[in-house]
Amino acid sequence: MPHKITSQTSDPLVGTGSSLHGTPRVDANLDSPTENLAAVRVLRRAHTHDTIVAVRGVAIGGQELTIIAGPCAVETPQQLFAAAELAAASGAHLLRGGAFKLRTSPYAFSGLGEAGLKLLSEARRVSGLPVVTEVVDEESVLLAAAHADMLQIGTRNMHNYVLLKQAAATGKPILLKRGMAATLEEFLQAAEYILAAGNAQVVLCERGIRTFSDFTRNTLDLNIVPALKLMTHLPVITDPSHGTGRRDLVIPMARASVAAGADGVLIEMHPDPERALSDGYQSLDPEEFGELMHDLSRIATAVGRTVTRRGQ
Ligand code: PEP
Ligand code: MN
Repeated sequence: MPHKITSQTSDPLVGTGSSLHGTPRVDANLDSPTENLAAVRVLRRAHTHDTIVAVRGVAIGGQELTIIAGPCAVETPQQLFAAAELAAASGAHLLRGGAFKLRTSPYAFSGLGEAGLKLLSEARRVSGLPVVTEVVDEESVLLAAAHADMLQIGTRNMHNYVLLKQAAATGKPILLKRGMAATLEEFLQAAEYILAAGNAQVVLCERGIRTFSDFTRNTLDLNIVPALKLMTHLPVITDPSHGTGRRDLVIPMARASVAAGADGVLIEMHPDPERALSDGYQSLDPEEFGELMHDLSRIATAVGRTVTRRGQ
């Protein structure tokens, strides 16, 4: 049985009564009560059951954990196909890989674009894994919708409401990452945009927030996992790769995510992380990824969840 979370407040986003556990009202920074009241589709009271998001036959949410794995960026056919085969052989459920990369430096590798999407399509064919990839603008939404099974909205675009609506309109399942400085409410309101546009297939992903911590790239906010599960019927996963920015912390924080009630994890994994064109320092190598899969199934058992290796 998934961990049952009890609510101390029936309408956390509605703005009446006290907020979670006596802390300041969670809606304090919304523009108006009217806008606040519009956030209804994502809330548990809108749905009696957890939403299960279906990505080409893979269910996200419910009893089973979903493991999404693959490189930060699609680089070459050899790199992507090796990653896809490793992910499939280790029992992962979805393949990830960015074809449009929003890099902090304008001089860094920014992805292969449409050629990368075609490689993802081919990787799905050889590995059998559905693919998820990030979209960054209208053109990439249209291109990715033709090749990928799920569209990712990255942390830098969580507040890009035009993009959220464009992605929603494709009808593809959406993996929505939390903005790196977004509050829980802003995160849920971003998801609300997608639901309001007629697409209920949304998975929320905590990927780390900006804090004063100077030993990690971001701080994986595991508090938000049970808080979101309390408030929304949407599946919630974490990304310990961007959440820590350190390969040596990814496995422990993935384990902690599952223990905290996450419905899955998104993991950067590269066949040769030392040679990766982006985020190699936070990417697991194939052996570490195998270790992670093994660990997660043990943690899953401890918290009443299961990890079924794809193909079994
Ligand atoms: C990614 O998943 O490759 C990515 C860029 O993530 P984020 O938007 O969370 O930084
Ligand atoms: Mn990355």
